[in-house]
Amino acid sequence: MAAEPVAWRADGVPYSERFDDIYHTETGALAQSRHVFLGGCGLPEAWAGRPQWRILETGFGLGLNFLTTWQAWRADANRPRLLHFVSVEAHPVGPEDLLRAAGAYPELALLAKELAAQWQGLLPGFHRLAFDQGRVLLTLCIGDVQAMLRAQRFEADSIFLDGFSPQQNPAMWSPDTLKAVSRFARQGTGLATWTYARAVRDALSQNGFQLERREGLPPKRDCLAGVFAPAWTVRRRGPAAEHIEAPGRCAVIGAGLAGAAVAASLARRGWQVTVLDAADRPAAGASGLPVGVMAPHVSPDDALLSRLTRAGIRATWIELERLLAQGRDWRASGVLERRPEGDTRVPAEWSDSGPNESWPASTAQLAETGLPADTPALWHARAGWVRPSRLIEAWLREPGVEFRGNAAVARVSHSAAVWQLFGDDGRLLAEADRIVVAAGFESGRFAPQLPLQPVRGQVAWGRMTGELALPATPLNGDGHLIAHVPEGEDALLWLAGATFDRDSTELAPNDADAAANRERLKRLHPAAAGLAASFDRGEANAWVGVRCASGDRRPLVGPLDEDGLWACTALGSRGLSFAALCAELLAAQWHGEPLPLPVNLAKALGTQRTRA
Ligand SMILES: Cc1cc2nc3c(=O)[nH]c(=O)nc-3n(C[C@H](O)[C@H](O)[C@H](O)COP(=O)(O)OP(=O)(O)OC[C@H]3O[C@@H](n4cnc5c(N)ncnc54)[C@H](O)[C@@H]3O)c2cc1C
Repeated sequence: MAAEPVAWRADGVPYSERFDDIYHTETGALAQSRHVFLGGCGLPEAWAGRPQWRILETGFGLGLNFLTTWQAWRADANRPRLLHFVSVEAHPVGPEDLLRAAGAYPELALLAKELAAQWQGLLPGFHRLAFDQGRVLLTLCIGDVQAMLRAQRFEADSIFLDGFSPQQNPAMWSPDTLKAVSRFARQGTGLATWTYARAVRDALSQNGFQLERREGLPPKRDCLAGVFAPAWTVRRRGPAAEHIEAPGRCAVIGAGLAGAAVAASLARRGWQVTVLDAADRPAAGASGLPVGVMAPHVSPDDALLSRLTRAGIRATWIELERLLAQGRDWRASGVLERRPEGDTRVPAEWSDSGPNESWPASTAQLAETGLPADTPALWHARAGWVRPSRLIEAWLREPGVEFRGNAAVARVSHSAAVWQLFGDDGRLLAEADRIVVAAGFESGRFAPQLPLQPVRGQVAWGRMTGELALPATPLNGDGHLIAHVPEGEDALLWLAGATFDRDSTELAPNDADAAANRERLKRLHPAAAGLAASFDRGEANAWVGVRCASGDRRPLVGPLDEDGLWACTALGSRGLSFAALCAELLAAQWHGEPLPLPVNLAKALGTQRTRA
């Protein structure tokens, strides 16, 4: 699973030994990409004034088509608000090869750097990368072309076919693959490819494309352009009920991680979003947690939850880098997870060199954290601590989002395609085209059909004093410890927890939980045991919040029974891992966009799964 090696020939041409073929010709790869793919699909003119443009590509290769398209989008005053680029690739190259390929073109150099910076962790599956404030979204589908196409669903505006040559990589051009590709086309979808091979033309025509030979750019003689215009009526499943063409007004109930993330994702797509909260300030519920850990779930069989948390952390990570200050609001410190004796297994195909980003912890990592060398533990490189309220505030500051405090919603009602939200006193609080319920454990009030359970939790926290050598990296396991979190000018905080108390919504701290946190700390880390004294001296504070959990511990995102009423909740104990991903999933469903997750994982988060 190491990165696909690229053999750079003496003449500068990148060559693949696996396919015995070149990635592109010696000169003018950028011009080729513009001529064949953009030109073949009538871009950038075709996307002018459109709210979104969605491109499907087979064969990401060295990424030049993506970079060229992104560059054309940036340069175009009439660009769509959102550009989606979905690319299927079975053998991703390493970041240094992306940089080298783009290095020949100064106009792509900066973009390639940004791409390379997010080019990590590319295990088989989908990976959503985001650029330009989340307005350019690249979904890499890593795996066999047909399986990846089956797992994705959207209507493409342009299709780029850019695999290695049909002789060298026939699977990429087989009739079955081209049929699967054509399922993404709508009337008028453009298609472009560099090959003029007869078998490819035949298969595309049979699937409804009207084709045209175009002059190639030397050294190529010709290339192919087409439009999906079948002579027969295509039976597609109609747009899903939730599909909405034009962004309007949305009211979000709850200004925690879930609500703020939804607001930001919708505002990016042009929605006017009002976020209402019962409290006078954002992050007054579970998301008021002073600082939290973000680390992936890992299992030997790479279970659903493991894949979901990885996708979620990638989505949050992009937002943390985009919006917050490292070291102050969050830290990409890595996390050490203590495991039960004999259980540091990871999927068999993972290796120490990646692309996976979790491994059994090394002796050096254990020593650095101050733990004995024989401690069973995993090291998560893409993990760290986050102050949730900082992320929420940043999301609520996005253009198009308005926060309204002291606005407890008691009731919602729907008439004449408008939703109205009322307070306790019957006062009309807001009107909207759609509502998203993100009220944490109180979501059940608006969505009684969802299987939600409150789970109270208490953490202990305090100021660090010089005496204790607390680890710089957060520790996770049976409970967690985060230290060295800056607070104000010169203070550093530690935080440890947490307790789990099902079906309780009691917000007052209690001594039994304080004692439980104290005992857990002692087991977690030898130096942390010294913190127990802070409890005795009354220097440990308590913070209490109530999580909202579903029956199967996965979030619930999707429509409720009434038209235009949606939920994004049940983030459980992983709000930091899930909020951004769930929000993007909801927005993608509203606009019929490419999914950030394979269909089966998206379904595993859906509200519909609870109606067996
Ligand atoms: C002790 C503890 C430790 C945790 N540790 C971590 C951790 O380390 N890492 C991690 O990722 N996650 C952690 N979590 C989980 C995380 O805090 C939650 O998953 C996340 O905060 C949930 O966000 P939310 O927006 O769904 O809910 P909330 O943050 O609870 O937001 C719901 C909001 O809705 C508002 N509201 C409710 N009813 C109404 C109404 N009728 N009208 C208007 N507004 C309303 C509330 O005021 C609240 O602001 C922890 C949770 C707890 C309790």
